[in-house]
Order: sequence, then C-alpha cells, then structure tokens
Amino acid sequence: MTAVKSVADYIRTIADFPHEGIMFRDVTTLFADPRGMRLCVDQMLHPYAGEPIDKVVGLEARGFILGGAIAHQLGTGFVPIRKKGKLPGTVISEAYTLEYGEAIMEVHDDAIQPGERILLVDDLLATGGTAEAGIKLVERLGGVITGCAFIVDLPDLGGRKRLEGLGFDVHALVAYE
Ligand code: IMP
Repeated sequence: MTAVKSVADYIRTIADFPHEGIMFRDVTTLFADPRGMRLCVDQMLHPYAGEPIDKVVGLEARGFILGGAIAHQLGTGFVPIRKKGKLPGTVISEAYTLEYGEAIMEVHDDAIQPGERILLVDDLLATGGTAEAGIKLVERLGGVITGCAFIVDLPDLGGRKRLEGLGFDVHALVAYE
C-alpha cells in the first residue's frame, strides 16, 4: 500500500535559484499533479469554508492559479493584484521593498467594494512585504481582510509574525525553517 502524500511531498526545492544560496520552493510540481493540486486547494480553503467571504484576491503570479481555484470552490469572485503596468483599467498602486530594490503592485480601483470580505492568497510567505502591499491595496478600497492563505511559510524571514502583528489571520500548509 502506498502512503497518502501530503502537500509538502509535491513541492520541489531547487538550490541556488534565482541567486546562489537561495533554496527556491518550486510549487509547479504540486500544481502539475492532479492529487497535489486538489489537496492544496482543499487545504487552503478549509479554514475559510462556511465563512462569509465575498472575494478572493490573488497576488501575481502563482496567487492567480490558487486564487481562481479557491474562488471557484467558495463560490466567490476573484480579483488579481498585479505588478505595475499590467492592468488595463484605472488602478491604485502600492510600493513595497524587495530583497534588492522596490516593486509596485496594482489593483483596479473598482475591483473591491467597501465592506467586502476578502481572502488574500499567494504561494509563499517570506518577509511578508508582497502580502502587506496586497493587504494595503485591499484596505484602501475599503475591503476587509478575513484571512491570508499561503502554501508555504518561511518563518525565519518573519512574514507570519509581521502579518499576525498587524492583526491578520495567517494560514500556511507547509513551513520550511
Ligand atoms: P515576500 O514579499 O518576501 O514575503 O516574498 C513573497 C513573494 O516572493 C511571493 O509572491 C512568492 O511568490 C515569491 N517567492 C519568494 N521566495 C520564493 C520561493 O522560494 N518559491 C516561490 N516563490 C517565492
């Protein structure tokens, strides 16, 4: 009999990508597997099933893959938060700090209505800078963050503490120390 796999079993680690010394957690192997994909989506939405959520917001790019599937399962709409210059309509922007330099995330200014309850999703939480930029965009439009769901948490990089310190509910399926 083969043992039942967990989400972690489908994630591949690639050393020295994109820079030397980085252990890149590659979730494309998880997405490519039919059982892996279903397990991941089911487990990510599990804490929020039955919760009143109006929209799922996904962060570019792997947050789109997860967010679309989770929104479909929860019966909500989906809103993309994209890197600068990709969205065609009127946007609001939020700058955030990366390992080297700055980046800007954007959302359509009519994508979320005041008071809507939002589940924010991405593949991985590291420093929390990307997620915090997404949260700020949602809140600037009047959205209320119900929770933040990730596949992977890298606790040593402080993202979970950062988001929980701001009062947000954080769920991740796998942690790599
Ligand atoms: P943070 O802003 O430092 O929390 O970094 C999180 C963002 O970087 C997410 O959007 C991730 O997709 C991406 N990221 C950082 N490290 C990895 C990794 O090892 N695998 C996949 N994505 C990563």
